[in-house]
Amino acid sequence: MPRIPDTEIDRIKRETDLAALVRSRGVELKKHGTGNLIGTCPFHEDKDPSFIVTPAKGLFHCMGCGVAGNAIQFVEKFDGVSFRHAFEILNAGPAAFTPPADAPLKKATVPRLDLPFDPDANDATLMRQVVDYYHERLLTTPAALDYLRGRGLYSEEAVDRFRLGFADRTLCLRLPDKNRKDGAAIRTRLQSLGLLREGKGGKDRVVPVGERALSWLTRYLEHARPMLETAASERALFLTGYGERFSAMYLGNWVRRVIEAAGIGRSGSCHLFRHSCATHMLENGADIRFIQQMLGHARLDTTQIYTEVGIVQLREVHARTHPHAHLQTANKDPK
Ligand SMILES: [Zn+2]
Repeated sequence: MPRIPDTEIDRIKRETDLAALVRSRGVELKKHGTGNLIGTCPFHEDKDPSFIVTPAKGLFHCMGCGVAGNAIQFVEKFDGVSFRHAFEILNAGPAAFTPPADAPLKKATVPRLDLPFDPDANDATLMRQVVDYYHERLLTTPAALDYLRGRGLYSEEAVDRFRLGFADRTLCLRLPDKNRKDGAAIRTRLQSLGLLREGKGGKDRVVPVGERALSWLTRYLEHARPMLETAASERALFLTGYGERFSAMYLGNWVRRVIEAAGIGRSGSCHLFRHSCATHMLENGADIRFIQQMLGHARLDTTQIYTEVGIVQLREVHARTHPHAHLQTANKDPK
């Protein structure tokens, strides 16, 4: 999912009336000292009010359980949604102030944002409505318009005429949870129309980490990551020099340069590491099904490419050891 620009996050923090937001979630707030409000904390069993809101700074904190943050983090925590989702809820304006139906800390399965299309419409209408939605997203996302301008692709006429849109993957946030019946049905339909793709994010992948990698990872977490981090909300493990999560392209270019600099005479990028890892494991006797799972391949034939490498070895061993390996020699003089 594209990263939300800091300027956008700052804008939401600035524009959201945090006190009103907290009140909308059923927390009664009273004046407390200069410029602060206090109420009972919605995040722990609070007898004496210990939840403090500082509207001027747009921040809250609880003296009891230590929970703290800004408006986006309040919605994230109270409504049980992701940071991105919370951002979108606040970005939608008045909708943010409608308290959720379910209790705090419980993960919501009914989206708080409106469905941008009519689920009962026919396919053509549905597609048009989704196009309209993404078009609207483009027009209301300054960063996306700046991107078009930056690449010399922006023209008001073209954007309007071709209904250019910004598929920022926020559509999913507006669909009922996929574990719900209506959520599953609409997702399947959107997928069949090519309007939605369930990304790799939909699947959990377990990647074993070796001892050596783990010790480097620990060092990175202790010493390097804190220096790179610019926003506590960024949860990616590896951050770029800008404190952002890596995009595939950024990482690819970076790894390519490192490989070149190493002077090993191979060209390639990230896949080279995947490839060598798989090949080493295979050659050392790992079962292909484990390698498949590690690489996140859904089907075995994607893994097959790594088997090819193993096959060279296999062929050589076969040729050397199998009594019937030398068919050509045997056929040289057919009777
Ligand atoms: Zn608390």
